[in-house]
Amino acid sequence: MTTEKETATKPLDFIRQIIADDLASGKHRSIITRFPPEPNGFLHIGHAKSICLNFGVAQEYNGTCHMRFDDTNPDKESSEYVEAIKRDVRWLGFDWGPHLYYASDYFEQLHDYAVRLIEMGKAYVCHLTADAIREYRGTLTESGRESPYRYRSVEENLALFARMRAGDIEEGVCVLRAKIDMTSAHMIMRDPVLYRILKTNHHRTGDKWCIYPMYDFTHCLSDMLEQVTHSLCTLEFENNRALYDWVLDTLQTPNHPRQIEFARLNINYTVTSKRKLLQLVEEGHVSGWDDPRMLTLSGLRRRGCPPAAIRRFCATIGIGKRESWIDMGVLENAVREDLNQHAPRVFGVLEPLKIVLTNYPQNQTEEMVAQNHPQNPELGERRVPFSRELYIEQSDFLENAPKKFFRLSVGREVRLRYAYLITCQQVIKDEDGRIVELHCTYDPESKGGSSPDGRKVKGTIHWVSAPHAMRAEVRLYDRLFTVADPEMDKEKNFKEFLNPDSLNVLTDCALEPGLARATGEDRYQFERQGYFCLDDVESTPDRPVFNRIVTLRDSWAKISSTV
Ligand code: ATP
Ligand code: MG
Repeated sequence: MTTEKETATKPLDFIRQIIADDLASGKHRSIITRFPPEPNGFLHIGHAKSICLNFGVAQEYNGTCHMRFDDTNPDKESSEYVEAIKRDVRWLGFDWGPHLYYASDYFEQLHDYAVRLIEMGKAYVCHLTADAIREYRGTLTESGRESPYRYRSVEENLALFARMRAGDIEEGVCVLRAKIDMTSAHMIMRDPVLYRILKTNHHRTGDKWCIYPMYDFTHCLSDMLEQVTHSLCTLEFENNRALYDWVLDTLQTPNHPRQIEFARLNINYTVTSKRKLLQLVEEGHVSGWDDPRMLTLSGLRRRGCPPAAIRRFCATIGIGKRESWIDMGVLENAVREDLNQHAPRVFGVLEPLKIVLTNYPQNQTEEMVAQNHPQNPELGERRVPFSRELYIEQSDFLENAPKKFFRLSVGREVRLRYAYLITCQQVIKDEDGRIVELHCTYDPESKGGSSPDGRKVKGTIHWVSAPHAMRAEVRLYDRLFTVADPEMDKEKNFKEFLNPDSLNVLTDCALEPGLARATGEDRYQFERQGYFCLDDVESTPDRPVFNRIVTLRDSWAKISSTV
């Protein structure tokens, strides 16, 4: 579903180069990749990078990308997460067709491969405790020690593994380990655990299993069973590659996928670890996985971020081999660029101040013609009702305005965009001295907003007709954290850096009436205020809620660089 333009404009990254070479040399006739999420949380912006890469290269090279749930840890997984992940990947614009798989579908085969390893003398049941296993493993500078159970006979191992499977042995009593090399420089090769006992129901296999395979054993074999050609993962799996290859080599499998590591996406002013996102949700720091401040795909969707903007962002940051940090501004810019092209312009007054045009006929309504997109006439025009009572932004009026303030003040004239020139005559206040409304006059000769005699009117402001206005709640967002790297300070918990002002709710905004037709799929530019989208989770017919997706310009970066 992605367009070629989004991906095909850059020189090949190192992964696409490897794939192109493998196809050119005839090593593969077609390629198969996979996206392998663990269903233990919602997908975030980091996963989007992996999704765009795996599904993207499959599309570009006429290959196939599998959707595979890596569901080997029933303690933390659920089918609710499975459904959310499927929805998010589809929303991002990718389709796995018939290729939906689950590691749990392979449990029987994985078990048989484990038995084969035992028969080959390459795996054994170990009764060391978890702590002892860790201690025996040694350190980066010290080699490990062999487990006293390492040389059990094949028969004994087969019998013990069968009892593990049958549920005859309690959790934590023993594990199945690969017999590799306790002196290996790769810690991961020091007899890694392949299976553990876990008497937990699995969301797909129920109580059929009480032993579950570990990630490293499962992943390579799942890739192999699906005939994946290129298994793309993030750099932290670089060391695991030795084990990935060992399992497949030892079992002499009919095919051997190639694992290639790339740098994960790190983005500042946020956290992208499911464990930490889950804490924010469970402890109520955010309203849920889809809180519009979260950089989860469901949060970005609810906020109104177009999926094309996320694909554009992923294409912009590219694929490399070195860890790096991407500025949040890069994501915001990708969103802004997409919205700038496509979002129709409308008027929305976020903090209304009433004005009365004292020389405008009572009960008269006109329809003003407004452009939907000044740079894109194809988007057409619309009619916006205008009347004697209007709302403007409170910030567009200043009582004691400096010379350079080109908006409204007593005795000054501004242009109401697409409507008339108006002059403020009088400020009306309540008993406490608070401004309640402005009395202004309009120039009937200036319809459309043009000056009838060439007199200069610098300021142009937006407005909404008061009796026609649609009342709505508008939510403005800022970054969820106040520091670039909330995880940097090891002494402090990342939650200490939560931004207390990340959500600003404006409860009584006045929007142009055409917005009554908005759905959660539509994005608008509220002129001068940013891009907005209806929140279809919390809106009700009586109380529509709009989210600000992003501001018009990167004002945030400017402010933060001066403090
Ligand atoms: P988390 O650290 O958020 O828990 P994870 O790696 O445990 O993420 P998985 O569900 O295992 O989450 O991830 C599925 C795929 O997405 C993996 O191939 C993983 O490498 C990739 N992935 C996860 N986070 C990122 C990221 N920040 N950048 C790029 N790819 C990522
Ligand atoms: Mg993982």
